[in-house]
Amino acid sequence: MADLLVQEQILAELKRQVSLLEEQLRLQREADTHQKEEELKKKLYCEHCKVHLPSRAAMEIHNDTQKHKKLLAGISQKGAFGCIECNYHTNNRQCMNIHHKSNKHISNTRPEKD
Ligand SMILES: [Zn+2]
Ligand SMILES: [Zn+2]
Repeated sequence: MADLLVQEQILAELKRQVSLLEEQLRLQREADTHQKEEELKKKLYCEHCKVHLPSRAAMEIHNDTQKHKKLLAGISQKGAFGCIECNYHTNNRQCMNIHHKSNKHISNTRPEKD
């Protein structure tokens, strides 16, 4: 009966492996679902108005609001980055950094002139 015992052991080992794989698969599925939820959350966030929307429908309604449209229009007209002192606007962060180092900006923001 030694053979039967070995076979039972092999079977038990196989069953153990299968349940391990099933557990891995379950965890993977959970991770995927979580990732999708995260992606959905990102999609349902308006960067311009800094608001989270509870659903895609709410997002569409939000995109149609005057507040959102005004903000978008303002950004495209003036630029996403602005300097009040110099009345300078740009959509490019790099340009804004360059502006901050420019003589014009430095003299405009200098607290007192001699
Ligand atoms: Zn918005
Ligand atoms: Zn400036």
